[in-house]
Amino acid sequence: MPNQSPLDKYKGKRDFQKTSEPKAFIPEKKNKEPIFVVQKHDASRLHYDFRLEIDGVLKSWAVPKGPSLNPANRRLAIETEDHPLDYANFEGIIPKNQYGGGVVMVWDKGTYKNIKKDKDGKEIKISDAYKKGQIEVQLHGKKLEGKFALIKTKSKKQWLLIKMKDEFGNKGEEITKLKPNSSCSGKSLEDIR
Ligand code: MN
Repeated sequence: MPNQSPLDKYKGKRDFQKTSEPKAFIPEKKNKEPIFVVQKHDASRLHYDFRLEIDGVLKSWAVPKGPSLNPANRRLAIETEDHPLDYANFEGIIPKNQYGGGVVMVWDKGTYKNIKKDKDGKEIKISDAYKKGQIEVQLHGKKLEGKFALIKTKSKKQWLLIKMKDEFGNKGEEITKLKPNSSCSGKSLEDIR
């Protein structure tokens, strides 16, 4: 068996002569505080890519409707290939005819805390919570704050992204509508295009 990297799928889908997306690289050092990023991606269909740093890569889900602060909303999150950590800083254009061709915006970025506990109140490691399909994290972003759960369903690759009840829950206008622009550059999709 050849050595496999968790980023082999990422690499296999892309031609780095043609796209300026980050190369498949796993740094030896992890971030002191693990990061999350949500990228707004205007590809064949507009969606939001939700990514969490786990074991040196960004575990990734495509969320067609985007994250919501309303605990009543269960947002479909389709698991996609692991991305390199550097991808959290990627904002720009993926050329047409390349995988994911379109505009990518860093819609929100920050750190997170793993809050998943077992029934005795002992912390479950984030990589184990991921394998079990029961992630609970506290996000500290510019737009997303508070506790979120990512729960695997019985359908392959289909998870649900749900705002857990806390003081950051909000049943008003969707955060994706209220704050449509980049959290790092302030640009709109059109500006980036
Ligand atoms: Mn995408």
